[in-house]
Amino acid sequence: MTPLEQLPIPLLEWYRDNARRLPWREDPTPYHVWVSEIMLQQTRVAAVLGYYRRFLEAAPDVAALAGLPEERLMKLWQGLGYYNRARNLQAAARQIMAEYSGVFPSDYDRIRALKGVGDYTAGAICSIAFGQPRAAVDGNVLRVVARLTGDGSDIAAQATKRKVAQALEQVIPIQASGRFTQAMMDLGAMVCLPNGAPLCEKCPAQGFCTAHREGRTGQLPVKAPKKARRVEERTVWLIFREDRVALRRRPDKGLLAGLWEYPNEPAGADPLAAWGVEPLSIEYAGQGKHIFTHVEWRLTFQKVEAAGEALPEGWVWADLEAWRGRYAIPNAFQSGEMAVEERLKTGHRGSE
Ligand code: SF4
Repeated sequence: MTPLEQLPIPLLEWYRDNARRLPWREDPTPYHVWVSEIMLQQTRVAAVLGYYRRFLEAAPDVAALAGLPEERLMKLWQGLGYYNRARNLQAAARQIMAEYSGVFPSDYDRIRALKGVGDYTAGAICSIAFGQPRAAVDGNVLRVVARLTGDGSDIAAQATKRKVAQALEQVIPIQASGRFTQAMMDLGAMVCLPNGAPLCEKCPAQGFCTAHREGRTGQLPVKAPKKARRVEERTVWLIFREDRVALRRRPDKGLLAGLWEYPNEPAGADPLAAWGVEPLSIEYAGQGKHIFTHVEWRLTFQKVEAAGEALPEGWVWADLEAWRGRYAIPNAFQSGEMAVEERLKTGHRGSE
């Protein structure tokens, strides 16, 4: 028997005793599995727990999510990052309302066709919520399978993901597809850890794992290096007038689409005059950095006291309450947050 063929029974036994208790596992409806899996993309479980609870309170089902006002949706997502995930969730909820009368589809291809749903999420929903023998292959699962089978293929390659999914679908037990998928997730997250540090002594696959037997856990999985990120130096203008700060909305498409931000431009530009902002004073207010998938922002914050109310069309003046409760401002600007909060609380006008 191959290592994968030997896996299901010991894995499921291990899972029975070691499964993580997670809120979306208590009632694994398609909606719950879907929302949790989208939140968990690029985000740690511990960070997702609070968000998941608040999200379910505000949008307990597909219909509620489809009808959620955009600002509320963005506010619920604030801090989780990768905001397109939230927009896609809502677009898919509307798709389900329009095309399936609000009933979550159970067919893999239909689920896969929902906005923002990739192979992994479709596989997770099909196996966990509908009990279908579909694989959900993410980085954790790729690592476990690469080590188990001793396969040195590049796990970043689509072809490897497809190969692993097909191999798993041959061995997923029909009666326990959901448990198998979740057990693979837990094994990758808790035992077969990345960076050459798996806890093989705790692993139910230890007896037939190729990497363990051959002492290759440090070399597997193999992952081709990513292209270097582009670095962008930007100046962020924290513009204040009395007890308010200026915000503008980002374009509807692209990075951080539709979120609110402090006006910012490539470093070296002097855009205040073009914005119609007459500064009474300009003061350095710190540095920040934010890493996105393809770009890194290095930010310099400048605090500006404005002489007048003039702002470009579409921008707003936000007081403390609106800044806290109404406008979703991405984490990328977090380093400037304290300076803004302090300034809005005091309402200090600066030197005139
Ligand atoms: Fe991973 Fe070690 Fe288990 Fe193999 S034995 S699957 S390397 S934890």
